[in-house]
Amino acid sequence: MGQQLYFDNYTPVGDILVMTICIVMLILVSVSYVTKTKNYSIFLTMISYLIFAAIADLAHHEWYTYIKDGNYTPVYALRIVYHALLFSLLLLYVVYIVEMQHLEISKRIPIMVTATLVYTSVVITDIVSTLNGTSFKLNKDGTAVSSFNIFLVGYILFLVIIVFLMVAFRDRIYKKAMFGFYGTMAMSFVILFNQGRHGQSSYTVASFLLPIIAMMYLVHSTPYDVELGAINVMAMKDMVRYNYEKKRELLFMSLYMPEFDSEGEAIPEELQSTIRKFAAEFFKKSVLFQINNGHMILFAPKKKNPDHENRLNKILNSFHDEYERFKFDYKVIIGESIDEISRKNEYLSFIENMHRHMEINEVRIVDIDDVTAFKKYEYILDQLEEIYKKHDLRDERVLAYCQPVYNIKTQKYDTAEALMRLKLPEIGMVFPDQFIPIAEENGYIHVLTEIILQKTCDEIKRLIEEGYAVKRISVNVSVLELHDEEFTNDIDRIIDSSGIPNEKVAIEITESRSDSDFMALKSMIEELKVKGIKFYLDDFGTGYSNMERIMELPFDIIKFDRSLVIASDSDEKAEKMVGSLASMFAELNYRILYEGVENDVDEKRCINMSASYLQGYKYSKPIPIMDLRKFFSKA
Ligand code: C2E
Ligand code: CA
Ligand code: CA
Repeated sequence: MGQQLYFDNYTPVGDILVMTICIVMLILVSVSYVTKTKNYSIFLTMISYLIFAAIADLAHHEWYTYIKDGNYTPVYALRIVYHALLFSLLLLYVVYIVEMQHLEISKRIPIMVTATLVYTSVVITDIVSTLNGTSFKLNKDGTAVSSFNIFLVGYILFLVIIVFLMVAFRDRIYKKAMFGFYGTMAMSFVILFNQGRHGQSSYTVASFLLPIIAMMYLVHSTPYDVELGAINVMAMKDMVRYNYEKKRELLFMSLYMPEFDSEGEAIPEELQSTIRKFAAEFFKKSVLFQINNGHMILFAPKKKNPDHENRLNKILNSFHDEYERFKFDYKVIIGESIDEISRKNEYLSFIENMHRHMEINEVRIVDIDDVTAFKKYEYILDQLEEIYKKHDLRDERVLAYCQPVYNIKTQKYDTAEALMRLKLPEIGMVFPDQFIPIAEENGYIHVLTEIILQKTCDEIKRLIEEGYAVKRISVNVSVLELHDEEFTNDIDRIIDSSGIPNEKVAIEITESRSDSDFMALKSMIEELKVKGIKFYLDDFGTGYSNMERIMELPFDIIKFDRSLVIASDSDEKAEKMVGSLASMFAELNYRILYEGVENDVDEKRCINMSASYLQGYKYSKPIPIMDLRKFFSKA
């Protein structure tokens, strides 16, 4: 710094700016939702050190101007404190980066030891050299002599460590965020370098501010949807984890509106303001998380809301009023944090599983049964995953049941439908409604089809060998499977390797609305039909029944759903409608199978409505596939 008045090099602008910006940052983080990670507390500590460093720097220079007697001890002391705070900041940068990179203990230790050594040696050197006047000295006339710049040495040593960390472990952090840090660090350096060139020292603390702004922006910001006041689902996981660790109980409320679930359509403005109001008014300290367009979950600390039961009633009442106004369908779930769910941070799948079993426009308060049901769901999912991975086509957990079908022409049982059951070690028998949707959602359905087909082929083979007349057994296939390119090959291979004729097997499939499903279905049927496999249209009358499309697909048998059997019993007009539909199909050379025939009256009516086949409890409930022998007759 040479022989000039010490104060000439300094203006307080830099330090005042730092204090102001730090206070602004503190205000911003306190009004926004910030995930409470370990780095967040380091971040807060850094901001406060920065404020103190700015104060120390300011005080150190100001004090100097008031000293007339030449005793500069307080100035020296403040300078040491100021340097120590900046070195502490540098040390905290290192801790922060190490934490952010999730370094293993073996890599963390040498780095932290080095950084701590650098820290203690530069701080001690600074103290000692200031005391004996070898680094920095103020003359009686107010001029400064600085011979050895210990601050610069410490700064460069820390810089080496930081650059090393950011280069050596660069792939631990998302690349773009990394560049953000590189950029701000480079800018800090530019500031320091330039002020040095101009013999300035006022912006040293300010140069430390830039990486902290980068941290706030890149790491600690959790943006709100400013219209709705909601934040994203990652933050929710973090919040659940934090409160679970602190053993703080939470209340939650989930609002799901299926209409807005799919991408695209946004929630109308009026409804948004209602949701905003809900979130703010009913619970203190609540946070609203946006899962997707149509699903949001509100969490609030239980302790801060002692009267939550009253509030709940209020919410439900006003919710009801709002529904009258908007008429958007909903599913609402209300509950308190559950340790088992918090521990594994599973509120989202817990809530989604509840949706599966809820009616539309239902409000549910979570109870212990829901937790039990969720655990069962998780167990089933787990088992399905295992079945999928094992890919054993004779897996003992998958059972082939069967329902014999009565053939009106031969007056015998010579066909049947294979129906799947699971038999799982911990929970026993599981029925299709409890696992088919889970298997479909998670991509495990095809392996189940393969297993059922394998077991059905095995059984057909045995029945034929024992001399039974088996015309065919049908197997259910889910539309979702058809998009798998290997589908037809898999079916082909299983039937082939079991050595039975292809025409002993049929595939049941329901119609679907989407064009791509239809195309996949069409090409699948065309490919397998030439090999002799028969096709059934399942559940006719339940879905949307596009006649034009049905005619385009070469089905052999149309299965009239039980709902049509029931409808035809209600009045004459309905019976006429079902009857003429059936006779139309019959004239076009389709065979008609009625499902869910439960008694003699059903049977008689169905026979009068062009039936070729009858299936239902009147003949048999689903039975284990080997019990088909009781129904089939020997050829
Ligand atoms: P679905 O294909 O329509 O199967 C007929 C269902 O109706 C069976 O239920 C059967 O037990 C039931 N049922 C049979 N007769 C009567 C009756 O007289 N009255 C009444 N009320 N019901 C009757 P299940 O076995 O519980 O299967 C339910 C659904 O699960 C099946 O409906 C099918 O969509 C699906 N599913 C079953 N097995 C498989 C499979 O292996 N693969 C696929 N993808 N889906 C399957
Ligand atoms: Ca079926
Ligand atoms: Ca059916």
